[in-house]
Amino acid sequence: KTTTPDIFETRESAVRGYSRSWPATFAKAHGAKQWDEDGKEYIDFFSGAGALNYGHNNPVVMNPLVEYLQSGAVLHSLDMKTPAKREFLETFQDLILKPRGLDYTVMFPGPTGTNTVEAALKLARKVTGRQHMLSFTNAFHGMTLGSLSVTGNSMKREGAGIPLTNSSKIPYDDYFDGEIPDFLWLEKVLEDSGSGVDKPAAVIVETVQGEGGLRAARAEWLRALSELTKKHDILLIVDDVQAGCGRTGSFFSFEEAGIEPDIVCLSKSISGSGLPMALTLFRPELDAWEPGEHNGTFRGNNPAFVTATAAIKNFWADNTFQNELADTIAALHQRLDSIVEKAEGASIRGRGLLAGLHFEDDEIAGKVAAEAFDNGLLLETSGPKDEVTKIMPPLTISSHDLEQGLDIIEAAVLKFAP
Ligand code: PMP
Repeated sequence: KTTTPDIFETRESAVRGYSRSWPATFAKAHGAKQWDEDGKEYIDFFSGAGALNYGHNNPVVMNPLVEYLQSGAVLHSLDMKTPAKREFLETFQDLILKPRGLDYTVMFPGPTGTNTVEAALKLARKVTGRQHMLSFTNAFHGMTLGSLSVTGNSMKREGAGIPLTNSSKIPYDDYFDGEIPDFLWLEKVLEDSGSGVDKPAAVIVETVQGEGGLRAARAEWLRALSELTKKHDILLIVDDVQAGCGRTGSFFSFEEAGIEPDIVCLSKSISGSGLPMALTLFRPELDAWEPGEHNGTFRGNNPAFVTATAAIKNFWADNTFQNELADTIAALHQRLDSIVEKAEGASIRGRGLLAGLHFEDDEIAGKVAAEAFDNGLLLETSGPKDEVTKIMPPLTISSHDLEQGLDIIEAAVLKFAP
């Protein structure tokens, strides 16, 4: 059904990336599968870059959405109060925050991940009165200027076109392989007032670097980071936009480390349906905003509140889903273990269902992704050189679809890295 000349090629900006890697026109989707206009089936190990943790068109969220759309309720309401927003806030409080002993004020910063990061950085600066930020090598936090300033990808940073100031990149945990993780060096710098390093307002960190090559921080390292920030009165922001909402096996990716960030950024799968939504969570005493100080037209996406509420009620009301998820994670990692045993120069990256295969030869990950596409599997690459094959199926994927996708990966890996 492709029209010639293809309007996507002639009229859409060249900035598009995914449609170049996957030059199909996708028309239908369900669960962990999607189909192009010609009916070719693809298994989805991409999950809308992490926005579709519960799969495509999951009836659990779609049925309440359709009902809401037909009910005559308010669709657009900026930040006004609505019953849909109330139900989301209550559900999030009762089923997510309370059982985890977390006390956060919830803010709707705008529709996307980059919006929640911007809000977190602004709030941290306002609360502390300091401007400097610390973030990590290979970090990804978004495409707007503030979030880009804490992003650790040179190519993306150059795209800003202006100097990105007021932030320093420090080495992420993967630089300290095998060593006891501590921040003694950083502590010394912070205590040396003449060092020329400004005390930061906050440190922003991903527990697993989704875009930066699936580098995963160790729990001990995160705990050491958390202790350092507490000791020096620096705010700790966890960007859980990609690693959150169950991706690593628990609702928040930092639960395993047992840390409590001052500020948490959520987006992508928080709506449960792929509808745009973001949250910024912060300790109640940090609520320094004046009314209207951080506004935006699309902060109150009621259809997204409806699907978010349904997803939380269905998946996070008890441990059933999380236990099933643990089995899926174990099955994936068992299979990845066996693939890297057979493949030359391959190793496993990531945590939970935010996993990757790193190859010593930087070219291989891209070849594996292209071969996978030809064989009906959507697979992204990650890392500054696209040197990691990224494996991010919906959390709800069936073991049949998971194994089928992994068969395609294994065949491709053994073709290029035998
Ligand atoms: N933070 C992280 C960790 C992300 O992975 C992303 C998106 N990949 C963002 C922020 C930005 O989110 P968005 O693309 O929705 O603006």
